[in-house]
Amino acid sequence: MCCFSSIRPSFVCPAVLAAPLLLLLLCYPVARGLAQRSITASAAVSKKKEPAPIHLKVLAQPGDDVPTLLQRYHLDGYECNVSEFFKINNLKEDYRLKVKTAYKIPVQVFTYNGKSIRTTLGIDDWQTAIRIDAYNKTAVEKGLRVRTFLEDKELWVPWHELHCPAESELAAGVAAEAAPNPTGAESLKEITAAKGNRVFPIFGKNYEKTSLVSRKLQGKVYYIISGHGGPDGGAEGMRAGHSLCEDEYAYDVSLRLVRLLVSHGATAFMIVRDPNDGIRDDAFLRCDKDEQVWGDREIPLDQKARLGQRTELINQLTTRYLKAGIKDQTIIEIHVDSRHRHQETDVFFYYRPDSETSKALALKFHNMFLRKYAKIRSQKQYNGTVSARSLFTLRETITPLAVYIELGNIRNDWDQQRLVIPNNRQALANWLCAALLAP
Ligand SMILES: [Zn+2]
Repeated sequence: MCCFSSIRPSFVCPAVLAAPLLLLLLCYPVARGLAQRSITASAAVSKKKEPAPIHLKVLAQPGDDVPTLLQRYHLDGYECNVSEFFKINNLKEDYRLKVKTAYKIPVQVFTYNGKSIRTTLGIDDWQTAIRIDAYNKTAVEKGLRVRTFLEDKELWVPWHELHCPAESELAAGVAAEAAPNPTGAESLKEITAAKGNRVFPIFGKNYEKTSLVSRKLQGKVYYIISGHGGPDGGAEGMRAGHSLCEDEYAYDVSLRLVRLLVSHGATAFMIVRDPNDGIRDDAFLRCDKDEQVWGDREIPLDQKARLGQRTELINQLTTRYLKAGIKDQTIIEIHVDSRHRHQETDVFFYYRPDSETSKALALKFHNMFLRKYAKIRSQKQYNGTVSARSLFTLRETITPLAVYIELGNIRNDWDQQRLVIPNNRQALANWLCAALLAP
């Protein structure tokens, strides 16, 4: 029976007293839920008002490739900017760009709230805000933008500042401490891991600007030897009335490889150097004899003296880097073989005998070529080999890793295509670099 039916004035039933409390307890969560919903709704309404930041769109200039374009907007040196570039433009990973075409770049444009960069972006970190402020100021100074973000309320925010803090800190850290440099500034001209104007004259006018695409090879040292050089042109082939000199083609592929290595932050030495031949996009590379060895050393004709000169140099440098605590040092020597003209010879690899690590590296190169040829030349099997060979530079050097590569038979018509087509020379360098970048 319910107590409500028999109320006497003097006696107040506790249930009556508890009713409003009960009601409150019952209604509170509902009320609270309603209140919250209206708050979020209003927040959503206000949130909906802030459009997602757009990506800045810019036109590719003549000669631009992805690294160059990113460098112009001070976005080089961050791997995440490169991957973001391909993502926002729905592009496959190919560095070539169409001139005068508009591309989105990894810079987000936020509407500046007129108060501060931190509140505009909803971040706490001062250092990041300071870097973003500096970025916008530099953009005005460099003429990349006309008005300041204070004037047009368009705050440019580089992708790496908000989306890849690890790389930003790394970049900030690396910029502070210079690259390992045990031998003194002057003689290490083309080796730099730090940002800077990143102009390397040895690559020639068309290629000297080399942006930092990533830091995957940071702290690693490479000695790239292009075979022969100077008075010794190496093996020779003939094509359409042109002499094909081994040292010129080995030189061009080596130079392209060095450029890729430094674009990934490596320390790379081009051991044989030509004072006036940068990376060349010609089919027939003129044979000359003015190559020297690093340090402006004349190349002797005598084979033993010639090989001794470059191995001694590499051993000196290796020793200095080892003393500086850098063990990750590799020699890659590039040649072109000469066999009977009917013999097709795929790219093959020699490694230093009794060196498991050199063998592993040679196999890594071989694997990469196998995979690449399976994709682009599926109708024709890749027959490159990997074997140990006691060659002078492999035997006489103390550098931890050493691999010797033959690019083909310079006298064979089919193999010559691998040499005289500039894109093929670039592909050879790309594949070697890809193997070095692979985990
Ligand atoms: Zn050779």
